[in-house]
Amino acid sequence: MAKHKANTRKDDLRIGTPFWVKTPHSKVDAQSALTRDRFDLIVVGAGISGALVAEALTRAGKSVLILDRRPAVRGSTPASTAMIQHEIDVPLTRLRKKIGKDHADRAWLRSVRAVEDLVSLATKLKLDCQMRAKPALYLAGNDLGARALANEAKARAEIGIRADYLKRADLMARCGMDRTAAIWSDASASANPAQLTAGLLLAALSRKAQIVSPVEITDMAELPSGIALSTSQGEVLVAGHAVFCTGYEYLPQMKTKSHHVTSTWALASEPISELPDWMRDTITWEAAEPYLYFRTDEAGRVIAGGEDEDASETNSDPKKLAKKARTIAQKLHDLTGVKIGKPAYTWSAPFSVTDDGLPIIDRVPGFERIYSVMGFGGNGITFSMIGAQIIASAIAGKPDPDAEIFRYR
Ligand SMILES: Cc1cc2nc3c(=O)[nH]c(=O)nc-3n(C[C@H](O)[C@H](O)[C@H](O)COP(=O)(O)OP(=O)(O)OC[C@H]3O[C@@H](n4cnc5c(N)ncnc54)[C@H](O)[C@@H]3O)c2cc1C
Repeated sequence: MAKHKANTRKDDLRIGTPFWVKTPHSKVDAQSALTRDRFDLIVVGAGISGALVAEALTRAGKSVLILDRRPAVRGSTPASTAMIQHEIDVPLTRLRKKIGKDHADRAWLRSVRAVEDLVSLATKLKLDCQMRAKPALYLAGNDLGARALANEAKARAEIGIRADYLKRADLMARCGMDRTAAIWSDASASANPAQLTAGLLLAALSRKAQIVSPVEITDMAELPSGIALSTSQGEVLVAGHAVFCTGYEYLPQMKTKSHHVTSTWALASEPISELPDWMRDTITWEAAEPYLYFRTDEAGRVIAGGEDEDASETNSDPKKLAKKARTIAQKLHDLTGVKIGKPAYTWSAPFSVTDDGLPIIDRVPGFERIYSVMGFGGNGITFSMIGAQIIASAIAGKPDPDAEIFRYR
């Protein structure tokens, strides 16, 4: 088949330079020509979701064709600050009110398990991606105050998720931050998201997978024996199943009212030699609107983000990027006393939210063999792991009991 030419879309998903794209082995070379081979599965999207799905399905012995309209690992994944959180954007106490206790508890427990599974997968595959288990520190803010955090810690502990409630004095003694309260809990991690994704894609390629870029999928259909996808260049590709892992971009068939795209900003500092120990060893975020979150990497860079806006376009304004980066740096200083100076990297990107903070991991409505994995918020990488597990089980004909929690809605 014909070689695919330059990307059919001029727009990039983000502006500025995410730090991770500058790190070694964060790229994966793709083929530029499609072959005529028939694959068990086509994965559309070569970010963390596509990489985890491809890794899981090739591990199960399937042949997988991975397609992307951009180079691999160049969508929103390298924009991620990669705090691999078990904590879902919607606190357990609130999620129970929104979707009922049973589903809420299972979503939170599944999230804890997904972080553990992702850390152990990275270890098993010996991925060189700075994967490191870390506790999460969740600070009281203008959204949840001390009393609400105490209830939240209690609710988590009730279902076996360890969550230590810290009073103001405890937090001050441990981290020197002045907030009315916090929850300190194990079971999270951080990593270099580009290296993690590249490593997973390479694992899939070492089995029965191929990756081709740039290829843009524009439509889909179901056949009696499988699926067909059409490309912007007029080809039709057939396979047994397809999974759309297209992040914050999706075809009209996947549009749903419960999900919409917003904007977010992030930065990475130069390496700082004198960071407090607690900051090196935790990931931190706050129950505030807009919120601040931060972590460090192995070299002592502070990677921070937040200042989200509920609008899909504002992340493409360079002036806004400069202003948001100043605000993030100032908030970090006010909270922790750490002065990062002029950030080494700043970037902004789309981000998505769902009404209940949970992703959509399901068949595309009206299709039996075409799935999509989307709707990722602040713990998107954890949800990508859950997505890969649920989709791999569904394709193997052994539905995952938690699949009902993440249906289209
Ligand atoms: C600034 C920022 C900070 C974040 N911080 C965190 C964090 O700390 N922790 C966390 O867990 N998550 C975080 N996230 C969220 C996380 O990064 C995302 O959930 C995750 O990267 C989504 O990965 P993905 O593979 O689904 O999408 P992507 O990485 O965007 O990959 C989708 C791919 O699909 C391709 N594509 C789209 N449409 C088509 C098409 N029609 N045909 C062919 N290819 C197509 C795109 O080119 C792209 O490469 C953050 C996100 C941002 C933007």
